[in-house]
This record gives sequence, structure tokens and C-alpha cells, in this order.
Amino acid sequence: MITVIGAGLAGSLLALELAERGLPVHLLDSGRSDTATALSYGLLAPAAAGGWKRLQQRHGDLGLGRRWLQLGPRGLPLPGLQVDPQRFASGVAAALQRCGVQRLTQQLHDPDALAPLLARGPVVLACGGGCRRLAPQLDRRLRCSWAGILELPAGLRPAWPRGLARLPERFERQRLEQQAADLQQECWIVDGGLVPCGERLLAGQITLVRPEPDPGPPPEPALMERRLRAELARRWPGLADGPGHYRQAAVSFCSDGVPLVEPAGERLWVLAGFSGAFAQLPAAAAALAARISAQAG
Ligand SMILES: Cc1cc2nc3c(=O)[nH]c(=O)nc-3n(C[C@H](O)[C@H](O)[C@H](O)COP(=O)(O)OP(=O)(O)OC[C@H]3O[C@@H](n4cnc5c(N)ncnc54)[C@H](O)[C@@H]3O)c2cc1C
Repeated sequence: MITVIGAGLAGSLLALELAERGLPVHLLDSGRSDTATALSYGLLAPAAAGGWKRLQQRHGDLGLGRRWLQLGPRGLPLPGLQVDPQRFASGVAAALQRCGVQRLTQQLHDPDALAPLLARGPVVLACGGGCRRLAPQLDRRLRCSWAGILELPAGLRPAWPRGLARLPERFERQRLEQQAADLQQECWIVDGGLVPCGERLLAGQITLVRPEPDPGPPPEPALMERRLRAELARRWPGLADGPGHYRQAAVSFCSDGVPLVEPAGERLWVLAGFSGAFAQLPAAAAALAARISAQAG
């Protein structure tokens, strides 16, 4: 039996790949609703479409669609792609069931919780910002930020042009993540994205990075929301000042941009720390599944 911990983008795609190779899989997840995948814009470059199209040919709708992107306030709309996180969640749940993956809701609290799972077979940590808590020995390149967005009500959608996604020319989040190891104190920044996701319109994101690689306790949501709204109000007055629901999640990243897709101990593997998760994960999950399958057989 192979246990995959984390049913976000990484763990779900890996579980599908393992099951397609005929391996018995348990997909274990805490069941939290605010995860990096659930709050994500889900955007990816058109060059990365192939992996998702092949996944959809095998598993049905996983949320892939076209999305016009405007980079910077004066940028012309460019064709891009988006995986709608809500459609992904329902599509992948059905695909996992068809493939015979058993899903279990369970929060693992510490490294000791891995021992009984490892006794049954290989274990993969695909639990994003939760990986270090279960395996503190992981490479210190794997870190965690806290990211928050403002979810604006569906009623605002008609005022928004053609479902256009507005993004900054360059994400400050990436710059902050690259500097993470040199930080002396926690730092936060706001990137002014405004992205339709299904019926929702996501405004933000605010990113908080700490000097330590561990995520630490979640930042105070009311404070994060105030900071986010204050910055967004300068870009989108009216929209960002109005009604909206603040949500935040832990997001794993690697400062050098190279994710962990590798062994992490005896029968233990890790799949985390992606900076372009929606573009990279179809191939990364397939590669890791092939490696685990080769060892199992
Ligand atoms: C606002 C925002 C916008 C983004 N936009 C983009 C984008 O446009 N394009 C892109 O490529 N990426 C984007 N990202 C990043 C991308 O969403 C993430 O890199 C990706 O979703 C991470 O997936 P994951 O499966 O590794 O983690 P998660 O989605 O966080 O999944 C981890 C799962 O593990 C579970 N878990 C954690 N700890 C435990 C435990 N101890 N026991 C049991 N279960 C546990 C959690 O409940 C969760 O379900 C964005 C992120 C945010 C927050």
C-alpha cells in the first residue's frame, strides 16, 4: 500500500498516476478547505497545456479553460490558461474514485504518525506547507509562506470585463521568496492580481514570509485582511473596499525555484515546493509515480 499525504494539486495528481500504474493507494488529507490549491488563481502558460490535456483525456474534466491575461495596467490581453480550482476539486474527486484510490480524512500531527504508515509501504509527503511538520529533516530549501486573498462576491462579476485576469508584470511574491533565507524578521507584500475563478473573483494576494523554514502559526487574519485591502484599494477602489471574504493558506516553496521531487528517507518521498505548480505538477507527478512504481515492482 502506498500512502500519499495531502490531497491538493500535488497529492491528487500523484495518486492518480500511481493508481493508473496498478498500485494500491491511500490518499490521506486533513480535510481543511483553505489550502493553496483551493485559493489559487490556477494560471499556467499555454506551453504547459499538453500535460493537462492528456490528463483530461484520461480522467475527464479537471477544470482546464482559456483565460485572457493582462500583465500590468497597460498590457494588452494575452491568451493564457487556467485550471479552475473548484472544477478541479470536483473533477479530480470523481477521477480518484474511478481509479480506486481510497480517500481518508485524517490530520497527522507529528513525525511519529508516519511510522505505522511506513510499516505498510512507501509514503509520499505531498502536503504543501504541512510537510516540514511531519519531516523536519527535509532540505531547508523547502519553506513556507502564508498567502491570503479576498474572495469577492459573484454579484460583482458583470462589472468585470470579459472575465479578464489582471496580473502584475512581475510578482513581488517571487522576489520575497528568493530572499527568504536572508530575512531577519517576517515580511509581507501585496501583489495586485484580480482573477476570475469560476463564479468567484479573487483579489490579491498578500504573502507573508518568515525567516524560519517552518510555517509557524497562521498570521492574524484580521490584520492580514486590513493590509491586503489597504493595498488593493489603491489599485481597485470600490471593488477592494466593498464586501469580500478573506481566506488564507500555507504555501510551500523553494527559494531557488527548484521543487523537491525526491526521496526523503527510507521508503519516504516528498513532492512539494513548486513555484509554477499548475505548469510543473502533471510532469513531476508522473515522473515520481514512475520511480515509486519501479521500486515497488
Ligand atoms: C492566491 C494564490 C494564487 C496562486 N496562483 C497560482 C497560479 O496562478 N499558478 C500556479 O501554478 N500556482 C499558483 N499558486 C500556487 C499553487 O496554488 C500551489 O503551489 C499549489 O496549489 C500547491 O499544491 P499542493 O498540493 O502542494 O499544496 P496544497 O494545495 O496546500 O495541498 C496540501 C494538502 O495537504 C493537507 N495537509 C497538510 N498538512 C497535513 C497533515 N499534517 N495531515 C494531513 N493532511 C495535511 C492540506 O489539508 C492540503 O489539502 C497560487 C497560490 C495562492 C495561494
